[in-house]
This record gives sequence, C-alpha cells and structure tokens, in this order.
Amino acid sequence: MSSQGVEPSVFSRIIAREIPATIVAETDRVIAFEDIAPQAPVHIVITTKDPQYRNVVELAAGDPELLAELVRVARTIADERTRGEFRLVFNTGAASGQTVFHVHAHVMGVGAAADSLG
Ligand code: 5GP
Repeated sequence: MSSQGVEPSVFSRIIAREIPATIVAETDRVIAFEDIAPQAPVHIVITTKDPQYRNVVELAAGDPELLAELVRVARTIADERTRGEFRLVFNTGAASGQTVFHVHAHVMGVGAAADSLG
C-alpha cells in the first residue's frame, strides 16, 4: 500500500525525524543517511525531501536540477567517505529491486581507509 505513496514512505518518516537514521548530509531539498542494511563498506541512501517522484526517471523529467543536486551530494559523500570512486545506483521499478517508491540513490563504495582496492 505504502509502495505507491498512499502512506508516507519510510524515507518521508526519516525526513520528518519520526524514525531514526544516521544522517550524513542534508541540503534544503536532499537528505542522505546510512542504509539500514548496507551492501558495501560505504552504503549511503540519498533521497529528495519532496516525495512526489517515485524513481529517477520521473525526477529527471520533472526536476532535472534536483537530480543534479542529488548527484552533487553523492559526489561530496564519496569524496568524504570513499576514495572518490563509487557506485551510484537507482533501482527503478520493483523488478529491478526497488522497494521504496520515493526516488533515491545508493552511494556504494569501499571505505577511504581500505588497505587495497584489489
Ligand atoms: P531500494 O531497494 O528501494 O532501491 O532501496 C531501499 C533501501 O532503503 C534499501 O537498501 C534498504 O536497506 C533501505 N531502508 C529501508 N528501510 C530503511 C530504514 O528504515 N532506514 C534506513 N536507514 N534504510 C532503510
């Protein structure tokens, strides 16, 4: 039910500080926090405070400057927490693995203190 935005998404509840999260960056329009189930040594979720866009395709069409801001925040986080090389993943649609239908990116990478990149 909530997957289609009928109820506030879990991310809207984090933005409203109704549920806790480790917030690592925030602007007027974007917020970033640690993923609750990290899939990489660095795994940060970046989402828009406006919940109207369900995925990156909708965001790109509706507010490309907001998408650009989200990417700038990703770059800042990557510079701080990785060696500046990272994955930026937008799962788009349930079949792709998207579970929260409030546009967000995953920033994933090795930590800046990692001994080796392999
Ligand atoms: P998706 O699968 O939609 O691309 O990504 C949703 C992400 O949100 C998942 O990686 C999941 O672990 C994360 N997530 C879901 N619920 C919470 C939560 O309550 N807190 C935090 N910090 N992350 C969450």
